[in-house]
Amino acid sequence: MSIPVDEFSDLPLARLRQYWGYDSFRPLQREAINCAMQQRDSVVVLPTGAGKSLCYQVPALCTDRLAVVVSPLISLMKDQVDSLAASGISAASINSSMGEAEKRLVAEQIRRGELRLLYLAPERLVLESTIKFLQNARVAFFAIDEAHCISSWGHDFRPEYRQLNSLKTHFPDVSVHAFTATATPRVREDIAIELQLTNPQVLVGSFDRENLLYRVYRRTEVLAQLREVIDRYRQQSGIVYCISRKEVENVAETLNRCGYRALPYHAGLSNQDRSRNQDDFINDRVDIIVATVAFGMGIDKSNVRYVVHAGMPKSLEAYQQESGRAGRDGLQSECTLLFSGSDLILWKKMTDSSQPGAGALLDAMYSYCTRTSCRHRMLVEYFGQSLGKSNCNACDVCLEELPLLPDALVVAQKIISCVHRLEQRFGAHHVAQVLIGSKAKRILDLGHERLSTWALLSDHPASAVGTWIGQLVDQGFLVPSGEYSVLRITDLGRQVLRGETIPVLYQASVPQPRKSTECRDDWAGVDSGLFESLRALRRQVAEEKQIPPFVIFHDTSLREMARQRPSKVVSFGSIPGVGAKKLADYGVRFVESIIQYCSQHNLPLDQPGQTSHAFNDKGDSSGGSLTPTKVVSKVKLDAFAMFSQGLPIEEIAAKVGRAVSTTSGYLSQYIQEHRIMDPSPWVDPATAARIRSAVNQVGALERLGPIKELLGEDYSYLQIRVVVDCLRVEHFRDHRPIQ
Ligand code: ADP
Ligand code: MG
Repeated sequence: MSIPVDEFSDLPLARLRQYWGYDSFRPLQREAINCAMQQRDSVVVLPTGAGKSLCYQVPALCTDRLAVVVSPLISLMKDQVDSLAASGISAASINSSMGEAEKRLVAEQIRRGELRLLYLAPERLVLESTIKFLQNARVAFFAIDEAHCISSWGHDFRPEYRQLNSLKTHFPDVSVHAFTATATPRVREDIAIELQLTNPQVLVGSFDRENLLYRVYRRTEVLAQLREVIDRYRQQSGIVYCISRKEVENVAETLNRCGYRALPYHAGLSNQDRSRNQDDFINDRVDIIVATVAFGMGIDKSNVRYVVHAGMPKSLEAYQQESGRAGRDGLQSECTLLFSGSDLILWKKMTDSSQPGAGALLDAMYSYCTRTSCRHRMLVEYFGQSLGKSNCNACDVCLEELPLLPDALVVAQKIISCVHRLEQRFGAHHVAQVLIGSKAKRILDLGHERLSTWALLSDHPASAVGTWIGQLVDQGFLVPSGEYSVLRITDLGRQVLRGETIPVLYQASVPQPRKSTECRDDWAGVDSGLFESLRALRRQVAEEKQIPPFVIFHDTSLREMARQRPSKVVSFGSIPGVGAKKLADYGVRFVESIIQYCSQHNLPLDQPGQTSHAFNDKGDSSGGSLTPTKVVSKVKLDAFAMFSQGLPIEEIAAKVGRAVSTTSGYLSQYIQEHRIMDPSPWVDPATAARIRSAVNQVGALERLGPIKELLGEDYSYLQIRVVVDCLRVEHFRDHRPIQ
């Protein structure tokens, strides 16, 4: 099969608009679609929520043949088939939950050529009878979803996926397209080899999830820490992950006792309970699901606003997947991870040591928890990409939420001199033990209680000292070396001993009252009362139709409705996410409800929408160069216009009705986007010069805290931030970040 591509009519784009109501493709979707249309095998690696499904659904609609989608879970197939049906697309699955008669009906649809997409589990696809049937069914292509399951190097190996290696033998002329969110180069290669792909096109998107805010805390009081997050998202959906089933039960029960509605999910529950709880969550009947990792694969619920890990996951791959379940709709969402050293020990006990590389996966995960560099950066670098910006503005580190340790120099000197006294022959654990004044047998045996550095940090717990050692390693003052990771002092470390350089240390993480994340740009212009009322209408329609609410409309579409408030069915049709079928099915009802609400509440109808909702349509196959276009709110645009006139920040803040801190955040973006290197419109030259020299002294652009400390009271964070932002632009001029 080769699907004719008419150069003059853009069939995929027409299908996207007609069935999904979206205006443009997201990065790499177009390239992935072309592979399916041109029958070129492919491996597509895009993060959760990037829109992999469309990469095989759209080409399936550009042919009169059948696309076969392999998917690991019935729930996933069901959601996708429901969603497709709601958009007027003919799709079905055949799975073990169906009766014989039902299966026969699907088979007949296929024979008549009526079906565009068929979803199958891998074990069903490789049955001889299925293969025979499909060989006569004019298959357009195979799409393998969650393809990392085929690799034993991945984090979710499923033996039944391995059998897919016979696909190419049975269907030598049909192209195979693998899709996954998580793939290190090794897994990626494994997928291509196992599926016996021929010269596959490999498309790797950016792993950065810009709309997710990452935070990491040491676990101190789980319940209080959980509530801190949950309370900020009343009546919105969230997932709490725990390591063990018992913990799931405990946490769910405690939350319920505290007046929340939370349901448990783990492999120890009966199938019936599990699927009921999952259904209640998916259908917005309950807001919180407390679960083990058993929950989530194939859950396409788009409006999960937060994911909290009450314990450390077993790998960064798993973390990327699990946390990635937040904010699939592209709206801002947050991912908070609570960890403790005991999680590492627990996982080591639970992990199958025969799985290659399991220990290394765990270590990388633990280091993500204990390090204090930008979380977005750590995640993308782990997957072999670079972030391309100096400040993500969306993690606890870059938002400067981590409390600085006031006497960082002294603490660092104590630690480094202890390493020196120990003749650079011991690892972090031992160094910490000596510093806290441990009288453990090993310390006494070695006579280390007689060292001058023994008990120098006895006021602190070993875990805090361990964290600081990690931070010193991160910043290059110490370096672990050899098989036993003994700590050695670097040249930079010696400068600390001489007081020439001051490291930045953070207090061992404690929960912080944080800057409000409520006042966010993607709510700009949205009437929240109308949004809630549309949500209620959506729930009602969902109940009537027996499908999940997000299958009807995503939160993004509802917000846009509550922003634009269309009074005509035609204008309702231009809301992103409203395709032809949904317009016909729901247009009148939603528009009536909008008109009614607006007249009751005296709200103007037919307002302008967001400037740009779609992600840009450019992309290449080299990976890493794809950043979604930022949604620009009206407020921000107004502020930008005033920045260009050089008005003082305080005045602008008052005019746009935002806090000075928010406005200064806009200014940062303005400086970055317009690549401004001269801070003089906002900071007078003498002040700027003094700040610049302080930056030089501190030697790092990463953090404002130490610079402020050096400059003292006469210099505001606002001024420092402007100068540093300009310096960053200058700094990145030569190695321009990938945009
Ligand atoms: P993935 O499988 O990669 O995790 P999905 O295929 O479930 O992601 O898509 C995530 C969300 O993005 C879905 O709600 C989907 O409708 C939406 N989406 C996909 N492509 C586009 C697009 N081009 N424009 C707007 N939204 C899109
Ligand atoms: Mg998917």
